[in-house]
Amino acid sequence: MRLDKLLANTGFGSRKDVKALLKKKQVEVNGEVAKDGSMHVDPEQDTVVCDGKRVEYKEYIYLMLHKPAGYLSATEDARDETVIDLLPEALQRFKPFPVGRLDKDTEGLLILTNDGELGHVLTSPRKDVPKKYFAIIKGNVGTEDIEAFQKGIILNDGYAAKPAKLHILKSGDISEIEVIVTEGKFHQVKRMFEAVDKKVLYLKRLSMGEISLDPELTKGSTRELNEMEMAYCL
Ligand code: URA
Repeated sequence: MRLDKLLANTGFGSRKDVKALLKKKQVEVNGEVAKDGSMHVDPEQDTVVCDGKRVEYKEYIYLMLHKPAGYLSATEDARDETVIDLLPEALQRFKPFPVGRLDKDTEGLLILTNDGELGHVLTSPRKDVPKKYFAIIKGNVGTEDIEAFQKGIILNDGYAAKPAKLHILKSGDISEIEVIVTEGKFHQVKRMFEAVDKKVLYLKRLSMGEISLDPELTKGSTRELNEMEMAYCL
């Protein structure tokens, strides 16, 4: 591939930035200063160093984002900010998209990738990937709700949700719960609680399958998936 394309795709800035780096003699291919961005390199074979850093080419990126409230799970929107706006520019260049969706006001684990295959593994309804949420609920969540969730809640459009595991952390006028659902219908958790006359006040996704939100990840920040997490997805 072209040297300037390789550098632009690996986070060294726009084509214009890359041109400036070449001009400043900050790019080396196999130990020789490279001046021409149109030169062809083999990212697997050639050693490319830019700005003192070894350039590692990769086609795909797999990210975990701690989504804050207020951002759409989309790649672009005319009105609202999207989760892509939270990513550093070097990661945006890979053109990642969110795998599945969280509502604008929902927080927590969101996976992003530019690998269409991965998106499919985690979101396919046939795979029944368990998704765990923490929620604060207006209303007193009790054992009757645990049973109703276990039996399968009928949502407001008549759809019979698959059995879900509800665990009460705190009950009272305002309750705190964890729930595990294996599907991802529109507003699924909110609608399940509506069906038992309660309201979700706060919702956070804690895990998807074996991938849990990294407790070190502050709201709005991202890290790449580690090997174990990747192995689970692919
Ligand atoms: N269920 C919801 O209601 N909202 C989400 O964002 C995720 C699950």
